[in-house]
Formats: sequence, structure tokens, C-alpha cells
Amino acid sequence: MKRRAVLSSLAALPFAGVLPAAPSRSGIRMRRRVRPHDPLWPSPAQWAALNGRLGGRLIQVHSPFSGCGRGATDSACQYAIKYLHDPYYLRDEPGLTQLSGYAGAWISRPSAYAVRARDAADVAAAVEFARHHRLLPVIKGAGHSYQGTSDAPDSLLIWTRDMDHITIEESFVPVGRASGRPQPAVSIGAGAVWMDAYHAVTTVAGRYVQGGGCATVGVAGLVQSGGFGSFSKHFGTCAAALLQAEVVTADGRIRRVSAHRDADLFWALKGGGGGTFGVVTRVWLRVRELPDQFGAVFATIQAHSDSAFRRVIDRFTLFCRENLVNPHWGETVTFHRDHKLTLSLVSNGLTRARMEALWQPFFAWVRAAPKDLQLQASLPGPTLLGAMPARHWWDARFWEREMPGTMTPDPRPGAPTYHAWWTGDGAQAGEFLHGYASLWLPRALLDEPQRERLANALFDASRQWDVTLHFNKGLAGAPREAVEAARDTAMNPAVLDAFALAILGAGGPSAFPGLPGANPDLPVARREASAISRSIGILRRIVPGGGSYVSESDYFQADWQHAFWGAHYPRLLAIKMKYDPAGLFFVHHGVGSEYWSADGFSPKRLG
Ligand SMILES: Cc1cc2nc3c(=O)[nH]c(=O)nc-3n(C[C@H](O)[C@H](O)[C@H](O)COP(=O)(O)OP(=O)(O)OC[C@H]3O[C@@H](n4cnc5c(N)ncnc54)[C@H](O)[C@@H]3O)c2cc1C
Repeated sequence: MKRRAVLSSLAALPFAGVLPAAPSRSGIRMRRRVRPHDPLWPSPAQWAALNGRLGGRLIQVHSPFSGCGRGATDSACQYAIKYLHDPYYLRDEPGLTQLSGYAGAWISRPSAYAVRARDAADVAAAVEFARHHRLLPVIKGAGHSYQGTSDAPDSLLIWTRDMDHITIEESFVPVGRASGRPQPAVSIGAGAVWMDAYHAVTTVAGRYVQGGGCATVGVAGLVQSGGFGSFSKHFGTCAAALLQAEVVTADGRIRRVSAHRDADLFWALKGGGGGTFGVVTRVWLRVRELPDQFGAVFATIQAHSDSAFRRVIDRFTLFCRENLVNPHWGETVTFHRDHKLTLSLVSNGLTRARMEALWQPFFAWVRAAPKDLQLQASLPGPTLLGAMPARHWWDARFWEREMPGTMTPDPRPGAPTYHAWWTGDGAQAGEFLHGYASLWLPRALLDEPQRERLANALFDASRQWDVTLHFNKGLAGAPREAVEAARDTAMNPAVLDAFALAILGAGGPSAFPGLPGANPDLPVARREASAISRSIGILRRIVPGGGSYVSESDYFQADWQHAFWGAHYPRLLAIKMKYDPAGLFFVHHGVGSEYWSADGFSPKRLG
């Protein structure tokens, strides 16, 4: 990057004046990355030598759809079409990602080669090879990046899939800590997905670990996002539960980091974004006691007019302020364009009787206006809410027995029986995104007189596009300990006093290149993206300068450094400069990405 561009990038940062280690001219070493047609591309002998060092774990990557043009008999193509909507398959296929692309932003494309790493030593070999040959390394965990950061054409993929070993350690002491009581922790390989961890920690061992709501998200990717699960309003963020990590940095060193060793890097891994500071190979997370009961409320309120819907929103914001902004509640409420309010909430630590007593006044208010409002259960049968033993929450066989259809098992022959996904999450597997945005909503918006502004904004925004509030993705109302632990992470501090994260998204059918019939409808995508942008714009007017969750955000987010990390950005940038001064690791809108690029690599634009 040219000096002038560096300076203008710096000037664009709102906090340039406080940058602790602004990169000097000599600090920026932008070298052209090497692509396959480049004379510097590694020779077959050099690839073979790497393969030898890896014990045969180097693979050439192709999209399984690349053979579809050869006819109906191509077995990889047939298999991929059959399991296109299975998130475990998309995780297991190095040539694919969970999303097939994002309109105007990126389209999923395979790397040239992948290192199917077994351990940190394999990862270190891959990192050294990429650095030496100036290749772009790309890291794929389970492939859920909305920003398209776990795939890039012509790159060397570091694929963590096989590093999924999990053990519970009863007396864990983080590296570098000289004193203090040991505590229970779970050690999880970077390639595991949350369902692997929930199976080991909750279903088998009857304990709790804070992971993601979507059970097929990758463990290391979620930790580095900050990470929310359904019960984060009680247990806090996933990053805040990190006790130690093993990470391979750009210099090829394998480091074990904690709050007591390489504390700056450890802090950056807690929400500073994936694919940026190194390759995480293993994490150690706190293990907690499991509550007795988890529960859920699933209901739909259909309003029959604008004015009735306004009344529902007004009443709901009041109800939510009094009853939902506390450690017991999580997940979502959606305000739909067609005057519908859907409740998909989960609870913890509440019996069914307590839940009924709490919701009764709100439901009674709705039922009292049958001409204007209609209350329905969103699940089969008349049940609006229920509670169950928490130990079975991630137990696919329990759901199959008690409420078939809630979870979908991985249908592939030989798949572990506990591999299943929440059926409601399934629609996103293979999806082509049309638009996406998120915004943290501060707790103060629920207080009078701001509450009226919030209710009006929710109504107006929902005229443009459906708005979903994720109560578990904001920590207002969480226990003090959870808030303080999250304060010591790299996430945007806006999360600490937000009562919810508003998320708006739209997508269409899968558009993987080569998939027969794939034909993204770009005019529809543009229309939907612009409706999302109008809708989030209305919400942003009541939260000027508001934060956005790095891993669930708009690819085109303006002022992304501030939106994703707030006042933490200068510190994160200094850590990036310290551990990766040449910018080996690069992801779109990752820390430091304004200084480097995937230069030399085909832009993943759709046009
Ligand atoms: C369907 C869906 C559901 C989601 N649900 C939730 C949710 O419930 N809660 C929540 O908080 N977020 C959620 N997210 C966002 C998700 O947490 C992030 O996208 C997360 O980074 C995904 O990790 P991954 O391994 O699955 O994805 P990947 O795309 O493989 O990785 C994401 C990023 O992390 C990097 N990365 C992955 N592994 C490593 C590693 N070992 N070392 C260094 N970098 C690495 C990748 O390079 C990439 O930049 C969801 C996303 C999707 C698409």
C-alpha cells in the first residue's frame, strides 16, 4: 500500500490521535501476494515437500460442484446436491462454506490447496509455508462467516476440521498463573463445532459451557467473534469464558496464551475477530454448573391494522422492560412487515408455572382484543410455553422423542447420532445473502421518555423490513460478573449496556458456482438490501454511532472499526502490528485490514 493511502486510512480513523502504535512507513511491508500463474508460485516439488512434512495432509481443493457440468453421473456433484442444506456437510467440505455468497460482496470460491491440520505443528508448517512463499493463508473452522472470510480463491486453506478433540479438565490452571485456585475447564480443539462441545459438556457430563446459539458454528470462530449463545444473558459471552488459547502466530510460533502470558494477544482473541491474529488451534473455556430447567416461549401475535400493531409494540416494550431484561431470558422477538410479532424466546432457571405467571398478563391483554389481535402458538398444539430438564437441551434423541422436528439430525450415513441442528437454523445452510445489518440497542431506550421513540422506531423500521431483537446478544440485565468479564474482552463495549442486538437479514437460494440452476436474483437482492438499509437507518437514528456485532454485520458497514470494536480499536491495531507486522493474515474488515489487502487475489465480487 502506498504511503499516501496509509496516511489517509489513518486520518479516516476517528481515534487516530490516540493510536498507541501507529504503523510507521517502515512498519508497513506490503508485498504482492503470489497466485498460481505467478512465476513465484511454489513448484510441484515444493508442494510435495510440504505434503511430506504434513504426513500427506495437503490436499488440492475443488468445489464439489465443479464436476456438475460433466453430467448427472458425477458423484461428488450428486453428493453435494443431496446434502447442500446440511451444515455438517458444508463444514466437512473444504471447497464450500456455510453461505454461498453475499450479493455485491463475495461468492464462495475454493482455495488452491488446503492443509488438513491434525495439530498445532501442522498449522505452524502451513503458516511458515504461506509466509515464505507469500501466499494468502485462509482459515476455515465450520465456515459460517457472513463476511466471506473463510474462503478465498488462490489461497492456502488452513483447515481445522480434524482438530475436534474435547476433554474436561477438573483442575485447570491457565499458563503463566502463579497462584489461585484451579477451576474446571473444557479443552476444545479449534475445529469442533458447538454441538460437539454441548454433547460432551452438557448431555454427557451434565455441566455448562458458554457457546453459540447455532449449534453448528465453529468453536474458535465464535470465541474470536465474542460469541453469544441462547443463555448469554445469564452466562455472558463466550469470549469472556476463555481461560487459555493455543495459537500459531504469523512468525510460525506455537504459543499458549492466557491473561498471564502474552496477555495482549489473549485479550485480542477474545472478540477481536477471526482470521486476524493467528491460527487458534485449541481453547480452554470455563465449565459452569448447569441450571435445572431451560424453557421456551413460542407464540405469534397477529395485529390486524397499523394502529393495533403500534399498540402491541408499545405494550411489548413495556413488558420487556419489566420482565425480559434479566438473566432468565434470551433469543428473539421479531417485528414483521405484515403486522406480526413472533416470540421465540428461551428461559433458564424458571419453572413452567413461573413462566406462565409472568406471561399471563401480557397474553391476557392480547386476548382481550380479539377483533384487533390474534394470539397463536408457533409450535404444533396449543402450547405457548414450556420448561424441561436443561441436560436434554442439546440432546437430539430427546427432541426426536419428545418433539420431533425441533432438531434435524445429520442425515449422512455414519454421522454421529448427536450431530443435529436446530431446524429453525437450517434455512441458512448454503444461502446466498442479499443483505444484513445489526445494531446494539442501549438499555436506556426502554426508559421513559425514550421508550416511545424506541416503539415508534420499531414500528417504522418494521414497515421497511422485518426487525429481530436478540435479547441474548446484549448484556444489560446480565449478572454483574458476566458484564465485568465481558468488559475485559475486545468486543465493542456497546454490548455491555445493550438490552438486545437488532438483526436484519435477507437471503435467497444457494448460489455456489457450478451448482446446477444456481442463479442469484440480483435485482431482488438489491431491493432487499436497500429495504434493510432503510430499516436499520431508522433504528440508527435513535442510536447514533451505535455498535454492530462483528460476526453478524453488514459487509459494507461504514466506519467498521468503530462499529465493531468501539474504543478498543487502537489497542487491537497495536496488537495486530506487534504479532503480524507484515499482515500475513488478512480478512475483510478485520483489524488492520485497512493497511493490507488480499492483493493479487481475484476480488470475490459478483458485479
Ligand atoms: C447460520 C449462522 C448462525 C450463527 N449463529 C451465531 C450465534 O448463535 N451466536 C453468535 O455469536 N454468532 C453466530 N454466528 C456468527 C458466527 O459466530 C461467526 O460467523 C463465527 O466466526 C463462525 O465461526 P465458524 O468457524 O463457524 O466460521 P468460519 O467461517 O470458518 O470462521 C469465521 C472466521 O473466523 C476465522 N477462524 C475460524 N477458525 C479459526 C481459527 N481456528 N483460528 C483463527 N481464525 C479462525 C475464519 O478465518 C473466519 O475469518 C452465526 C453465523 C451463521 C452463518
